[in-house]
Amino acid sequence: MKLTDNDQAKDYGKTVYGYNYIDGQEVEASNNKRFNSTNPSYNKDLVGSFPLSTEEDVENACIAAKNAFKEWKNTPAPIRGGIIANIGDLLTKNKDVLAKIITREIGKTPKEAMGSVQEAIDTAHFFQSEGRRLYGQTVPSEMRNKELYTYRRPIGVTGVITAGNFPLAVPSWKIIPALLCGNTIVWKPSDDAAAVGYLFGKILEDAGVPKGVVNIIHGTGAEAGDALVKMVDKGYLQKFSFTGSTAVGRHIGEVCGRNLLVPSLELGGKNPLIVMEDADLDLAVHGAVWSSFGTAGQRCTSAGNIILHKDIAQTFKAKFLEAVKKIKIGNPLLGEVLYGPMLAERFLNTFMKHYEIGKADGATLLYGNGQITKENKPEGFVGDPESGLYAWPVIWDNVKIDMRIAQEEIFGPVITLLEVNNIEEAMEVANGTPYGLSSAIYTNNPDYMYKFKNEIGAGMSSINNSTTGAEAHLPFGGNGASGNNTRESGIWVIDSYTRWHAVNVDLSGKLQLAQMDTQYVEEKTLTDFSTLLASK
Ligand code: NAD
Repeated sequence: MKLTDNDQAKDYGKTVYGYNYIDGQEVEASNNKRFNSTNPSYNKDLVGSFPLSTEEDVENACIAAKNAFKEWKNTPAPIRGGIIANIGDLLTKNKDVLAKIITREIGKTPKEAMGSVQEAIDTAHFFQSEGRRLYGQTVPSEMRNKELYTYRRPIGVTGVITAGNFPLAVPSWKIIPALLCGNTIVWKPSDDAAAVGYLFGKILEDAGVPKGVVNIIHGTGAEAGDALVKMVDKGYLQKFSFTGSTAVGRHIGEVCGRNLLVPSLELGGKNPLIVMEDADLDLAVHGAVWSSFGTAGQRCTSAGNIILHKDIAQTFKAKFLEAVKKIKIGNPLLGEVLYGPMLAERFLNTFMKHYEIGKADGATLLYGNGQITKENKPEGFVGDPESGLYAWPVIWDNVKIDMRIAQEEIFGPVITLLEVNNIEEAMEVANGTPYGLSSAIYTNNPDYMYKFKNEIGAGMSSINNSTTGAEAHLPFGGNGASGNNTRESGIWVIDSYTRWHAVNVDLSGKLQLAQMDTQYVEEKTLTDFSTLLASK
């Protein structure tokens, strides 16, 4: 790795001078152009410089992955698992460094950044032994002297595109199981988090992933990302795995569909959090503040709509508002904060524009004051607000579920409050958006819990906990506008990166045809029970 000094930001660390990684070689983009990744908490800190890849670079990466596939798929799965174990060890060894660069590049708090490295470590730990458990089945045949088997086979060259808000955990959810299953990969990390992507690539290389098996191309969505999607039409890719916005995911789904590929699509959310009249309100407020404003609302699983039973609505609002006023915001590298900056300028722009939507809907702005500046900052702000991209927490009241503000993902520190009369109405409102990713309810009533679990249309649900959070061995994903029902993590993701192969072995020495030569039990004359039991 070549590092250069960063004169402007000595306190923040060096600038990472990264490359594409194609066929085991670090290379520049074919046009020699580069882009910068800056620190959203402190814009004078240049985190890294990376190649601005073209379609030609992407195609070269696909050729390398295609050439590496045969050898990698024939590498025994337990040996592939051994490399996954090495990845886990190297992530553990470099946990602090990786967490620091996550905080620096996308503004997560150090605690969250450590958690997201841990998520990648957990993923490696889970899958390292799956290499010894990539089971098929033996299946009984309907004919004699014949055996049936199933095998999991890798799918092939896999295109991976990821968002910047989970720059290590989400790529690990895709790359680690895809590798374990014997696929080769072309990955375009988010240009919001290219340094984290580059460093993860170094870990994969050091762990012993052979050349060509994982290829990394940096660049923008519009150019490198779009080029990777085009590779589906060009026939290079047999699988696609995408995490990002619903609009881009829909496009990838369309391209994959016409080529008969089944993509894994993990998209946006507008996640409901219900508070019923019997809930522990302090617990609910605590969970609601984190769900709504943790990571400045830039999690796919952030709460979007809070649905309040009318009997506790006023009390909840008062307690919630009091807690939101106390939220500590600022540069996470300078002090303890609940949330740091918007991770990129475009997210600050959509956040600023969302005010127009709320006003046009006729919702009431209960709290929030736009962008945080020197003159307009919350008490206790940490750092210089004008060196970064900071946003006030926003609460909209008197919201109805059919308003745009309740329907659209804002991807910022924004929450809406809606009131309902009973659990039936709460469920209707909770299911009243196009999304279906995460959800939560606060209640101690087992009937409410049951109804919620049974009727919620989301892929993930919490009872008395935040809408956010994932564990490496539990399925993660959504439906509707949140995804196409594929799942990341745990044993379930293995179905995304393998196809079933059915094999029959006939030892009979003759041509036996299923159904036709099957020796079904012949039809017999049936016992007439009425004659046996008839009275004399
Ligand atoms: P985005 O779709 O703009 O970008 C995501 C990735 O796709 C980036 O690498 C980007 O460069 C690339 N990309 C952008 N345009 C592309 C195109 N036309 N063709 C190919 N690639 C393209 O998403 P974003 O705005 O950066 O990220 C936030 C979104 O991601 C939110 O909607 C959030 O909910 C979602 N997200 C979902 C999950 C999940 O697991 N469901 C996790 C994290 C983020």
